[in-house]
Order: sequence, then structure tokens, then C-alpha cells
Amino acid sequence: MLKEYIPIGVTLQLYNFLQEASLTLPPTPVTIYYTKSLTEFHYLTDMPYNIGGIYENFQIIFQPREILVKKKIFEKVLLHELLHWVLYGLSEKYQEGLIYWYMGYYEKKEVDIFLNKFADFNYELPLFISYYWEK
Ligand SMILES: [Zn+2]
Repeated sequence: MLKEYIPIGVTLQLYNFLQEASLTLPPTPVTIYYTKSLTEFHYLTDMPYNIGGIYENFQIIFQPREILVKKKIFEKVLLHELLHWVLYGLSEKYQEGLIYWYMGYYEKKEVDIFLNKFADFNYELPLFISYYWEK
């Protein structure tokens, strides 16, 4: 399943999330690609450099790993994108907010969109996820 090197801290957080969300690892593995340069990252993703990585269709494309490490965001960006992977079936409009909320970025506007709906589920993560699971 996780073929790429994932730091133990990120693995533990990922499994904690799976437990809290009553999810299991997706049947489809994720492919992780670290670009070799920011130019390549921009070419492949069309994203600005303040975006550390993107997830789409069971693929994650990252900026060069050494750049993320130098910025001290490597583990955060990795966990963020892996959470998109394990939430692959969740309605896209709630994924970003749920992930930011779970990782403690409460100031992000996507968190409000998520929390407004989450309240309807009495803050029960498994209930919320199964209700908005589309796959
Ligand atoms: Zn995201």
C-alpha cells in the first residue's frame, strides 16, 4: 500500500485519522512523485510555489522534497495530501475543510464550510463521512 518512504510520525497520524474516521486505507494505492525542480513542479501542476503538493486521482505530485524539508513543511504537506487520498470518496467540497480542521488550521475559510455541515452530524466524523461519501 504505502510503497514510498513515509516518516513514522506521518504514518501514525494517518492511522489515527483512519481510526477516528472509521475508514481503512483505500483499495487503490497512491503514487507519490517528487519533482526534481520548482520549474518541473509548475510545469506538471500549473500551481504557484506556495502550494507544496497536489493530490488528484490517486497521484500526489510534490515540490522537490528538499525544498519542503527546508521550509519545514514536508510532513504537514505529506499528511495533507495523504488525507485527500484516504478521503477519495468524500464530496470534494468538504475535503479541504475537513483536512484543515483535522490538522488545526482553523482560520482557513474552507473549515467554516465544513464545520457548518459537521454540526448537523453532532460532530460525528464517521457519520459525516459516510453521508457525503460518493464513490
Ligand atoms: Zn488540499
